[in-house]
Amino acid sequence: MTLQPLLDRIEHQARHYFGQGRVADYIPALAQVPAARFGMAICTTEGELYRCGDADEPFSIQSISKAFTLAMAQQRYGDELWRRVGKEPSGNAFNSLVQLEFEQGIPRNPFINAGALVVVDALYSRLSAPVHAVLEAMRLRAGNGVIRIDHKVADSEYEHRFRNAAMANLMKSFGNFHNEVDEVLRAYFSYCALSMSCVDLARAFGFLANGGRCVMTGEAWLPRLQTQQLNALLFTSGLYDAAGDFAYRVGMPAKSGVGGGIVAVVPGRFSVCVWSPELNSYGNSVAGIWALEELSRALDLRLF
Ligand code: GLN
Repeated sequence: MTLQPLLDRIEHQARHYFGQGRVADYIPALAQVPAARFGMAICTTEGELYRCGDADEPFSIQSISKAFTLAMAQQRYGDELWRRVGKEPSGNAFNSLVQLEFEQGIPRNPFINAGALVVVDALYSRLSAPVHAVLEAMRLRAGNGVIRIDHKVADSEYEHRFRNAAMANLMKSFGNFHNEVDEVLRAYFSYCALSMSCVDLARAFGFLANGGRCVMTGEAWLPRLQTQQLNALLFTSGLYDAAGDFAYRVGMPAKSGVGGGIVAVVPGRFSVCVWSPELNSYGNSVAGIWALEELSRALDLRLF
């Protein structure tokens, strides 16, 4: 089956899901995003690109950034990182605090907020200009030098940072947070507030489908083993407490964000990004999940 007609059909049908979810409003700046949007882009390991709908419209990548910062931390720390963060699904919401107290400040996995904050804290210790370094790495991976941080979104998150600040402070009380909480939060919110399109994200995460090799530059960016490990964690925890349902319905490693984006990977073949802002109760895009399920069914993409 050729990809372009399939994407066009999915786009047409995905619009039927408009009105079935809710745009994230716990970050006030995100509540202003128009809800009726749908875009999708596929980047093959050969660098061919297929797109439909609003695939070129930038949106707030939010938690999709957690997969990228994890890759950057893996590069710098290797297995040492896993002393500070676990590898297990959490079964709790992405912003839940309850497990942290029971588990002595070691977050279950790097994709819930607490885990991503530890990863960003670790990165912060190793980068001289943490915001600039991640922005530049992302621009290079995506092959787009004008990707920017939406400071309105980052400031809005910082103003409403109470829950994330509580997690970071709790981890600090257990000795699992090394830098100034507010400085690390600023960096974390800047990464979440990266404004990128489906095309940018499909390209930037091409390395996950390509054994760690960047699709845009050809550079071996992440070692093959670490890329496999990152995909494994995305498979089990990339969609928070809905990761099991996503594995059942779609069957790909993936990372979602409350901006409505989802990046998914078919190792050896392609990376795909879908975006539609209305979310289900787990904070994942309603039309986005349906679209990936349909893509997986039409191309018979399941791993098992
Ligand atoms: N920036 C958001 C937060 O920290 C990211 C959450 C998400 O996309 N799931 O709450």
